[in-house]
Amino acid sequence: MSKRIVGFSTGSLFKLGITPPVAASMIVDLGCNALEISFLKINSHEEINPEDFDLSSMNSLKHFCLHAPINWSNNKKDYLDAMTRFYPGVTAVIHPDTIEDFTIFDYRTIDPLFENMNNGKNTIFKSVGGMAQLLSFCPRFNVCLDVNHAYSNDPSGHLGDQFVSCFGSRIKQVHLSGYSPDWGHVPLFLTKQYELIKQAALANAPIIIESVLGNVDQLEQEYKYIIETLDVLDELEGLREKHSGARLV
Ligand SMILES: [Zn+2]
Repeated sequence: MSKRIVGFSTGSLFKLGITPPVAASMIVDLGCNALEISFLKINSHEEINPEDFDLSSMNSLKHFCLHAPINWSNNKKDYLDAMTRFYPGVTAVIHPDTIEDFTIFDYRTIDPLFENMNNGKNTIFKSVGGMAQLLSFCPRFNVCLDVNHAYSNDPSGHLGDQFVSCFGSRIKQVHLSGYSPDWGHVPLFLTKQYELIKQAALANAPIIIESVLGNVDQLEQEYKYIIETLDVLDELEGLREKHSGARLV
């Protein structure tokens, strides 16, 4: 059993027409110890409704967060207040290119994690330098490293590695999914992009799987594939440490 904190975003099931409350229950029932509730596609802050979710079943979670919408126009404060009502002090993943005024986070208990953007966006928040500038504004600002987005900008893996080494413990969450130039976020059990799972492991933060699934059975298939790969990586790391320790004696 993996010692890691791993779960899904409810967004993984959106293509199947499964609503976030039902998706959240499916993810918890699968045995995941992390969950992201995605409000990525909502059109009104009134859709952020805690009564829809079975929060008692979420007590077993070691990591919980929300994903803020991307089309949240000019009433972002209403959205942030609705999210805070939902879960006081909650962690929320935010696309930094959707924010014009970062002072909206002042005096709010929400804990923002800004996500590095993919190659489809015209923004400075694709690069280590742009994200570093953002983090310098406020010590409360941290990072959700999307290894798929980093890979879309640099398939050599170098950019993702740079994010891991530059931001270290300010990476509070990782978004993990397989990358396809045509489809974006795809299951890793299909792409077998071992290097992306390895990068997620190196970041050493809770992992939220964001692969967009094609049917319900793929939820378990994807989870198992990723957990088993993480277990192998962790075992190899343990062996490496043991081996290098022996050489030191
Ligand atoms: Zn995102």
